[in-house]
Amino acid sequence: MKIGVLGGTFNPIHIGHISLAKGLIEKGFLDKVLFVVSSRPPHKDEPDTKPQSRYEMVCLALKNEENLIPCDIEMREESNYTVETLPKIRAMYSNDEVYFITGADMFIDIPYWYKPEELFKNESFLVADRENSFSDEKYIKERDEIIRKYNPDVTFAPIDTPDISSTMLRKNPEKYKEFLPDGVYEYILKNNLYVKHDKEMIDLILEKLNQKLSEKRLKHTLGVAKCAVELAKRFNADGNDAYIAGLLHDIEKEDSLGNMQRLCKDLALDEEMLNSKALLHGPAGAEYAVRNFNVSEDVYNACFYHTVGRKNMSTLEKIIYLADMIEENRTQPGVDELRKIAETDLDRAILQGIKNTISYLSGKGAKIHKNSLEAMNYLLKLQ
Ligand code: FE
Ligand code: FE
Repeated sequence: MKIGVLGGTFNPIHIGHISLAKGLIEKGFLDKVLFVVSSRPPHKDEPDTKPQSRYEMVCLALKNEENLIPCDIEMREESNYTVETLPKIRAMYSNDEVYFITGADMFIDIPYWYKPEELFKNESFLVADRENSFSDEKYIKERDEIIRKYNPDVTFAPIDTPDISSTMLRKNPEKYKEFLPDGVYEYILKNNLYVKHDKEMIDLILEKLNQKLSEKRLKHTLGVAKCAVELAKRFNADGNDAYIAGLLHDIEKEDSLGNMQRLCKDLALDEEMLNSKALLHGPAGAEYAVRNFNVSEDVYNACFYHTVGRKNMSTLEKIIYLADMIEENRTQPGVDELRKIAETDLDRAILQGIKNTISYLSGKGAKIHKNSLEAMNYLLKLQ
């Protein structure tokens, strides 16, 4: 049997990939195609979608295709290079012929890959692309150079496939959902992949953050935003809101107490809150956020309550409260345990976080705000 190997990040898989594989089978070049999901992180400008998520989308897309087979070998074996992966696949299909599928552009790029000599010597190639790619002058020149230099085993398959790119699908999955195989669009929505940020607003917020925060605080802020997006995916919250609330939560942190109090002058806050920068930067940041960026109520509350918490917090409020404690730059005692709990249980992680804060503050002889105690008691009842 002739087995084709179609490697890629599949970020996300789309009907172009499927139509290429099916076309190669219909034209008799292959009998089956393996969709090998790359374990490599996607390019820098791509969202860092986990290999497992990309693989799950491939599985969904191929579930009714007898001859198209999802393959997670690179993820399981931590092969990072084609030159390592292909021999393993050949060993799995030792009675079959295995072909590595590339496009014309990709084929002439192989001399720049890891160990090209070995790849050209040991593997068979099936170059599939539009007819006119094969008549491109630059392509012909480089292809002939490869053939002269490496003498590879290569078959050329002109094939027409729809012109779709994963990039455009990531930018607007809803607009292009007709190009996504059944179930993949729903998967993207459910898992909050390819979160859309309102670019202009984000740029404005970043500009303000740069003006208002020290380098260290800015680093923490970006850490919180990133962590909040991850938690939002994990616990089914809106990733866009999580990102924005993460960016804004400490925007007033380094302002003067007087400025914070002015921002909060119409709020009914207790004396304890009003006289502590450590507590007041939450409400002050929320006020700043709503006045300057017209944020939603949920984002407002997530900023507002991130310093002390409260009973009955929304999922977003919990996410920001927690992300503030466990973002990647945090190193306080107990942080790893919190991160571990946060992998599965948001409420338990918050509860543990509040307990840690309370014991830290009591250790210093500092007063505990009543909101924190109420939040703790509320969560204890839920457990
Ligand atoms: Fe803060
Ligand atoms: Fe913070």
